[in-house]
Amino acid sequence: MSRTRHACLVASALLVPPAIAGAQAAPVPQRADTATVILLGTGMPYPDPSAQGPATAVTVGDRLFLFDAGAGVVRQMNAARLPVRGGPVTAVFLTHLHSDHTLGLADVIFTSWVMGRRRPLPIIGPPGTRAMVDHLTAAYAEDIEVRTKGLERGIPDGWRTRVREVTGGVAYDSAGVRIIAIPVEHGSWKHAFGFRIEAAGKVIVLSGDTRPSAALERAAAGADLLIHEAYPAVRLQPEDRPGGEVWPQYMRAFHASDEEVGRLAARAGVKRLVLHHLVRMGGTDAELLEGVRRGGFLGPVVIGKDLDRF
Ligand SMILES: [Zn+2]
Ligand SMILES: [Zn+2]
Repeated sequence: MSRTRHACLVASALLVPPAIAGAQAAPVPQRADTATVILLGTGMPYPDPSAQGPATAVTVGDRLFLFDAGAGVVRQMNAARLPVRGGPVTAVFLTHLHSDHTLGLADVIFTSWVMGRRRPLPIIGPPGTRAMVDHLTAAYAEDIEVRTKGLERGIPDGWRTRVREVTGGVAYDSAGVRIIAIPVEHGSWKHAFGFRIEAAGKVIVLSGDTRPSAALERAAAGADLLIHEAYPAVRLQPEDRPGGEVWPQYMRAFHASDEEVGRLAARAGVKRLVLHHLVRMGGTDAELLEGVRRGGFLGPVVIGKDLDRF
């Protein structure tokens, strides 16, 4: 082996994250008296390596709630130094069943099992969630067979889930944490939700995917944090591709512009606004911020990046 190649191997061995080598960097204990939000993935369907698929974690003490499960979700949990062993996820909430929001669901189900989960994983989502989860677990039937019957000695039944389909209203209420599904309008989706999370004296509202929603605005009244999707209004125009002529029409029916989000945040009187899941169309952070200001929101605004904490 050449010296250079040897040096490379040594260097890459040092770069192997401890989790892959078998020992996760110690998870950072989460405070019980506060709710922490971690943006695990702020991306879109475009596979941008710096923005994983949509997923947001909210922790309250040792409870860990996931909202959406985009591509990369479990690795991002580890990157955020959240626990990944022993089935740490209290429940997964799905805003809707668009693939970019659910591509990591099999990862959450099966990686948590391989990492020692014993109990069924609660998954709460719109109608269609049960069918999706049943199909995912059926797709991995051979994996389940080999891991449980073979030398891996997989925990029997540790891969199981407990799905609850909801159409809105209180989706979780236990020991001081209340999570409410807010039906929102996401184009032709029959069911799509934002979520209002009340925990440790804080109110956190996630928009999910939605055009400007009066229901979400009401749910966000006075919220400490509103995390909303957005696109820059000034950039919206027909695109030069098949179907591109209806792009503006699609965006207005399915999504919310920076101006619209600014208007909603101002009317709701939220204390802080975080934008994520951005369809930028070339728009810069400054343009998005200007859009929010044009909409009338003058409070603090953050353009969310993966692993930001609030
Ligand atoms: Zn969507
Ligand atoms: Zn989306």
